[in-house]
Amino acid sequence: MGQKDYRRKRVLVTGGAGFLGSHLIDRLLARGDEVLCVDNLFTGDKSNLDHLFNHPRFEFMRHDICFPLYVEVDHIYNLACPASPIHYQHDPVQTTKTSVIGAINVLGLAKRLKARVFQASTSEVYGDPAIHPQVESYWGNVNPIGLRSCYDEGKRCAETLFMDYRRQHGLDIKIARIFNTYGPRMHPGDGRVVSNFIIQALEGRPITIYGDGSQTRSFCYYADLVEAFIRLMDTDNDFTGPINIGNPVEFTIRELAETVLELTGSQSELIFLPLPSDDPTQRRPDISVARDKLDWEPRTQLREGLAATIDYFSSLRDKALHNAL
Ligand code: NAD
Ligand code: UDP
Repeated sequence: MGQKDYRRKRVLVTGGAGFLGSHLIDRLLARGDEVLCVDNLFTGDKSNLDHLFNHPRFEFMRHDICFPLYVEVDHIYNLACPASPIHYQHDPVQTTKTSVIGAINVLGLAKRLKARVFQASTSEVYGDPAIHPQVESYWGNVNPIGLRSCYDEGKRCAETLFMDYRRQHGLDIKIARIFNTYGPRMHPGDGRVVSNFIIQALEGRPITIYGDGSQTRSFCYYADLVEAFIRLMDTDNDFTGPINIGNPVEFTIRELAETVLELTGSQSELIFLPLPSDDPTQRRPDISVARDKLDWEPRTQLREGLAATIDYFSSLRDKALHNAL
């Protein structure tokens, strides 16, 4: 279907003031949709949406998805949930509530409206994976009682709810398992590895490697990820996922630190701190299903995406220094 034939939709994005949600909203508005953003601003920030407040097809509603929501839309993207370990461990009970009660509220809304509904799930459903790279059919290796469990088990339960609403009520669902994603609008204080390393390098502070830095992650640039969200939402009703969305190129955390140092030209030293509990030792998506069903794979190389992210954090820093004068 060409852009000309596209029929405008009313789309709800929960968690739309956050890193990924705000980029998704930009993309939906650019394609012609009307967007309602619902967010309680726990980790999100209205500044991510500043450029949209006068947009005629955009609306913002401050609301916690742990409480029911009565609106009229055609499509729902459920992204509301703190995503970084520091943020989701800050109030772990609220994290589980957001994942589980939030999912029930969003699914109830989708059921009443017969709306297609997307769940932002996570590679954390695989826990510390014993199968590498991770395929969707792998059930995972998750600690149910650890510090990360509020997020991991919350997201796993949300997947269960999505599948049961499908089986029990025939809902039109899409589940994306998102692997580590980075880019402009990441929260500077969320403690994730890409934002931490860039900010430390820009400020000439030591780069904090947890453990010996041999653990691996695979980093996807936000623009590639958002493209996959849209393609997944456009698949036929019979395709539900779960589907892995991420970049299959794997790096050690030490390699990431060295790349950030090189790209920023920073003289920061590397320091080694204790590894947080249950920190997965390896993570890389098998994206065969995404290649097949969405005709999708990431295009942005790590260096290119990091350079854009470094520019973003530099400009935030310049603004903060300017305001302090
Ligand atoms: P983020 O913290 O920037 O955004 C989450 C948004 O949800 C924030 O704006 C926050 O205020 C909002 N929110 C939190 N609890 C809420 C509640 N109860 N009601 C309403 N709004 C609430 O995180 P992000 O990186 O943009 O992640 C978005 C989604 O993608 C999350 O569901 C996350 O679990 C998932 N995800 C992200 C990554 C990643 O690498 N960024 C990886 C895997 C999964
Ligand atoms: N990490 C690190 N230094 C930091 C922040 C994170 O070495 O300052 C490590 C962390 O222990 C993990 C990896 O980087 O092994 C990715 O951490 P992040 O919090 O970004 O995401 P997640 O653990 O959820 O994949």
